[in-house]
This record gives sequence, C-alpha cells and structure tokens, in this order.
Amino acid sequence: MYKYAIIILATLLIFSCGPKEKIKRYEGNIDVDSPIYLVPIGDIEDRFITALVPKLKTRFTTDVYVALDKRIPVPDDAFDYDKQQYVAMYVLADMVKKLKFAPDARVLGITNVDIFTPESDRVFLFGMSYKKGNMALISKVRMDPRYYFGGKPNDQLVIERMEKEAIHQLGKLFGLENVYDPECVMYVPKDLKELDRKTDSFCLECQKTFQELKKSAEKNPFAGKF
Ligand SMILES: [Zn+2]
Repeated sequence: MYKYAIIILATLLIFSCGPKEKIKRYEGNIDVDSPIYLVPIGDIEDRFITALVPKLKTRFTTDVYVALDKRIPVPDDAFDYDKQQYVAMYVLADMVKKLKFAPDARVLGITNVDIFTPESDRVFLFGMSYKKGNMALISKVRMDPRYYFGGKPNDQLVIERMEKEAIHQLGKLFGLENVYDPECVMYVPKDLKELDRKTDSFCLECQKTFQELKKSAEKNPFAGKF
C-alpha cells in the first residue's frame, strides 16, 4: 500500500518542483482612448505595416489605422555618413513637421533603414519615441533575418518582433516607462535574443501604472488625452 503512496508523493514532487518555471505568457492590455496611426517612412513593404494592426488593437483596445497615403521619405539630412545609419531623432523631427493628425493621435512611423542615436553607446536602435510630438519610430531592418549573412526570410518572425517594438514605443507615447522585467514588453532589449525572449504584453505592474496615470490625468486638464 505504502508503495503507492510513495509513487503518488514522487509524482506530486516532480510536478511541483518540475521544470524550472517557464516564461509566463500573459495577455496584458491597456485601455487607451486615443487612436493610433501607422505610417510608412521611406521604402517598406505595406504587408509589414498592415500585419501589425490586429495585435496593436488588442494591446491598446483602440482604433488602429494604416495611413499608407501619408508615407513620407526618410529625410536625407538624417543620414550620418560616418555611421552609415540614420539619426532617429532627425527622422522623428521630420515626421512631426510633415505629418498632420488630430492632436491626441499617436503616430508610429515604420521604416526599413538602420537607425541610431548619438546619445547612446548602442550601435543601433530598434525604435525611438518622441513623447512631446506624440510620434514614435521603429526600424524593421535588424529584425529581418535577411539582414544577416545567410539569413532566411521569415515574415512571421519579423512581424512578431515588429509587434513587440511597436507596442513598446507606443507604450512610451501613452506614458509608460522602460522596466527591468525582461518578459514585459516595456523592457528594452539590447539584442535580438532579448527581443525574442520578451513577451508582447504589458506586465501587471505596467497595467497598474497606466491605470494610475489615466486616473491622475482626469484631474489635470494639462495632462493630455490617453
Ligand atoms: Zn511591465
């Protein structure tokens, strides 16, 4: 009889201590009121932009529009000849100057050129946001396996990576900050491995922060719309 008890106990032990906790896959959304617009910046395939809509609609529970007719070129003066990359802030400044949307709209530019910022040691950026202008920018180029020697095309992977970066930068436009939780979408990945490791979800802490931001904005007429 006790033989069975041992088997049951052992099974329980295996299941409870089991494989070291797996990455949590949570579904964390924030409920915003303002619309989101996606705008191609320079030469990028439309399919990579339209593919982002369903996930963004879920994470922000708002209307997400693809504004292909608003496409603008990547500004030449943003190009840094030494680095052979574009200065992200200059591209963003050009977007703010040329793209006209309702004041509360959040605008995400999507480009296929390599971007960087002189203010950071990082060799490149996946994206950058300019909160004052309600605009952000993401670059697909380093998310595409075809960028690397021998890399095979994988649209699904590229889109998953773009979704995460788009949610991160739009999260910044809606008042959230970078976090240390490597699984939260608000974490700043230093490379593709870290980008692939994190989820496309807002963690509970970020969801709470957003609720508080929204609540305090109700009492402050200068806080702007969420
Ligand atoms: Zn978080």
